Amino acid sequence: MQEPKYKRVVLKISGEALAGEKEFGIDQDVINSIADEIKEIRECGIDVAVVVGGGNIWRGRNSPQMDRATADYMGMLATVINALALQDALEKRNIETRVQTAIEMKEIAEPYIRRRAMRHLEKGRVVIFAAGTGNPFFSTDTAAALRAAEIEADVILLAKKVDGVYDSDPMKNPNAQKFDSLEYIDILNRGLGVMDSTATSLCMDNKIPIIVFGINKAGNIKKAALGENIGTFVKG
Ligand code: UDP
Repeated sequence: MQEPKYKRVVLKISGEALAGEKEFGIDQDVINSIADEIKEIRECGIDVAVVVGGGNIWRGRNSPQMDRATADYMGMLATVINALALQDALEKRNIETRVQTAIEMKEIAEPYIRRRAMRHLEKGRVVIFAAGTGNPFFSTDTAAALRAAEIEADVILLAKKVDGVYDSDPMKNPNAQKFDSLEYIDILNRGLGVMDSTATSLCMDNKIPIIVFGINKAGNIKKAALGENIGTFVKG
């Protein structure tokens, strides 16, 4: 068996990725294939924490008529819906899973407690972090950076609809060029849309590398976790 490059990973799955070909909601086939791949990387002995987005259901910044903080809380609740769907798919595959929320809702999931999360990971459980950072005006990418620093993850695997970081939007510009590797400062200086600046700075300051890759190709999560060259590597 291939020796994994990383011992502990944070897998960030955007809401958009969970929607698959749909505009809105959850594509059960996508959730199933993500769960299959998480099972595979767990079986390689890699500790897996997952941060889920919510953009497939709600995004605070897309509701300008609403109070921003309220709209953002709605977005955080959307991530909890996604987290429960992923937990269900993982448990159907006999993977012990805990959801921890940054906003307490104890009837549904555990509250986020760092030491408890670390313990779950040590026991081989997959921990799904939901409700982002628990604060409005942040993103789930920032939550991924924060949790990765807290749980001492080796890398963030940023699963996206696009297969890496480009110099312009590849959906709009057919001549967009993909980067094989980048430094965080380049993302900030060039204003690349891969991550917001808060998440980017947090990763840069804490020297956490990220691998940005496309989720729509089966096997990519495993390849990224094993350290194969896919997508774009952003150096910490
Ligand atoms: N959100 C927030 N604080 C956080 C994380 C998320 O307020 O720490 C809200 C915000 O409104 C965001 C929504 O939750 O638009 C969904 O998260 P995000 O847009 O990061 O999801 P993704 O783009 O990954 O699907």
